[in-house]
Amino acid sequence: MSIADNLLKYKKELEGEQVELIAVSKNNEADAVLEAYNAGQRIFGENIVQELVEKQAVLPQDIEWHLIGHLQTNKVKYIAPFISMIESVDSLKLLAEINKQAAKHKRVIDCLLQIYIADEETKFGLDHAEAIELLRSEEYAAMKNIRITGLMGIASNNALEKQTKDEFQELKVLFDGIKMSFFRKEDSFKEVSMGMSGDYKIAIEEGSTMVRIGSNIFGARKIKHFKA
Ligand SMILES: *Cc1c(COP(=O)(O)O)cnc(C)c1O
Repeated sequence: MSIADNLLKYKKELEGEQVELIAVSKNNEADAVLEAYNAGQRIFGENIVQELVEKQAVLPQDIEWHLIGHLQTNKVKYIAPFISMIESVDSLKLLAEINKQAAKHKRVIDCLLQIYIADEETKFGLDHAEAIELLRSEEYAAMKNIRITGLMGIASNNALEKQTKDEFQELKVLFDGIKMSFFRKEDSFKEVSMGMSGDYKIAIEEGSTMVRIGSNIFGARKIKHFKA
């Protein structure tokens, strides 16, 4: 199946669900992204700043780029002029830098707090207490150039379905609690970004509003991994 065929399949499948498709184009060349763009896709996810910046420069300017990988504070400046959403905010320090760089460009950048839900040591993210602490901080309250619009999580790799389900449920419960406590009057706080090629169906059952699909759309990845 071609990239366009794969996209059409997802479009059909997600029809009627309140779920946005993020096409994860990491490790794929710009021409693969363009093929997806020409098939109608407009939102793409990348996890490495250098790769994202290179593609953004040569691809149509109406693409909405989401950064979905760990972001170092010293790299925020490269994406601040154009990024649509940073899904992987995992510290107050990073959020402060995004706020600062967004202000330089007179922008408000949408952000998701990445929550640690996997039973693995390697995944980045905030735990529940850290997320609450961030939202209660005076520093966050003073930020004018970021907007937190939801939460993102990555489930454990190769887990049994039951565990994946539990992890997504945990994220949705936390989302509901944070919504009630901090964003009750803000309609913009509405995103639960969870689900990838292997587990998106479970994620949608558990209340995902954004699925991040890479390999099921683009197939085996082509570019060698850049160093982050
Ligand atoms: C790579 C990646 C995806 C997409 O994974 P696939 O299994 O290829 O669909 C989604 N989210 C994040 C954070 C990723 O790094």
